[in-house]
Amino acid sequence: MALALVGLILVAGPPAPTGSHEPGSPAAAAASGAPSTNPASTSPPASPQPSLPAPAGSGIEPGSVNRTSIDLVATYDAAVNLSFDARRIHVDEAISVTNASGGAVDRVELNTIAAPLGNLRLLGTEVDGRPVEATVRDQTIVVPLGGILPDGASVALRVRFRAAIPSTLSGSNWMFTRTGDILQASRWLPWVGLRHPFGRPNHGDPFFTALSPSVRVRITTDRRLVIAAPGRRVAVDGLTQTFEAENVRDFHIVASPSFAIRERRVGDWVVRAYVRGGFPTEKVLDWAADGLQRMSELAGEYPYRRFTIAQTAGGYALEGPGMIWISTGLTGSRLRWNVYHETAHQWFYGLVGSDGALDPFADEAVATHLGQVVSGHLALADVRDASPRPVDLPIQHRLLLQPDLPARR
Ligand SMILES: [Zn+2]
Repeated sequence: MALALVGLILVAGPPAPTGSHEPGSPAAAAASGAPSTNPASTSPPASPQPSLPAPAGSGIEPGSVNRTSIDLVATYDAAVNLSFDARRIHVDEAISVTNASGGAVDRVELNTIAAPLGNLRLLGTEVDGRPVEATVRDQTIVVPLGGILPDGASVALRVRFRAAIPSTLSGSNWMFTRTGDILQASRWLPWVGLRHPFGRPNHGDPFFTALSPSVRVRITTDRRLVIAAPGRRVAVDGLTQTFEAENVRDFHIVASPSFAIRERRVGDWVVRAYVRGGFPTEKVLDWAADGLQRMSELAGEYPYRRFTIAQTAGGYALEGPGMIWISTGLTGSRLRWNVYHETAHQWFYGLVGSDGALDPFADEAVATHLGQVVSGHLALADVRDASPRPVDLPIQHRLLLQPDLPARR
C-alpha cells in the first residue's frame, strides 16, 4: 500500500494521524505460501468449471487433523454479478484446491475483505458437491472439508455469497467501495490464505494469501463499465466481461463508466492506465515505466506482460499483482513516490510473497527501500518514536511515517 514515504525504519509509534493525510499505507501484502514451498511449481489442477459438478471420486477421507495450510494450490473460477448502481455484488465461485502442504488438512481458510467491509452473507458452500456449514470469522471464511484432504489430493469447493459495497472512503472502506463513479475492490474474491484479524490501521496489510496459478472471473454488470483488473480481458459478451490471470495472489478490480484507457509500450510490457479526465496520466506512465525498467534491473525482470494503473476515488495507493491503485488527488512528490512505491510492491509481496501481517519487514520495508533507491525519494519519515525495535515485529506494531515528505532529489 501506499506507504507514504516510509522509511525503512522500524519505528513503532502512535497511530498516524488520519484525515486527509496518508499515513503509511497498507501494503497489500498478501503473501504467498511459505517460502519453503513453491505452490506454482506443483501441478496446477485443471481449471474448475463454472458450475462445479461434484467429482465422482472425492479426495476427502474420513478423519480430522485440525489443520490447514497456506500451501494449498488453488485455482479460481468465479461468476460475478456486480450492480454498480445498487452497490451490490453476488459471487458464485468455484475453487479447485490441491493440497501441497506435505500433510493432511481438514479445512480451507478463505480471505475476503467483503466479510468485514461488505456485510458478506454466505448463500451456500459445497465441498465436492456436498453442502457444508462454512462460517465467516472476521475476514475469513472457514470451510470445513468434512474429513481430511491428504497431501497431494484435490478437492472442489464452491462458495456463493452476496455483499454490499460501501459508499464512502472512510476507515478501511476505501479498499471496497463505490464512491462517486469509481468502484474499487481489493481482495474481494475469497482466496486461500491464513486467518489474521482484519483490524488494521491504514498502514498495514493484515493479509496472507497464496499464489494461484490460474484465475478466471466473469463479471456481469448492471451498466457499461470499463474494468481494470490483473491479467487480461479475454471475452466480452454484452455486459459480461471475462478476465484471466496467472500466478497472482489476489484479484483487485477498479471500474468506472467514465474511465478512458491510455496505453504505453515499454519494452515487451504494455502499461495501461485506467483514468478519468484530469488525472496526471503522462507523468504517472513515465514514472511507472521508469520504475518497471529500473526495478527489473535491480530485482529481477517484471514477469507479467501487462502492468495496470487504476485511478481510484481516494483512500490510499495500493498494489496488487500486475496492478497498482493511484488515488485521485495525489500530486507532486506524494504522487511520484506512490507510483514508485506501489510499483516496487510488484516484487515485494507480489513476486516474493510473505506474510504481511506477521512479517511486514519482508514487504513494506523492502518495497520502500527499492522505491527509494529507484525514485530518489530518500527523505524518511518524521519518526515520532525512533526507539529501536526488532525488525520482525508484526503489523500491529506498525511502522509509522509521515506522509508528506518532500523529495530530496
Ligand atoms: Zn506499501
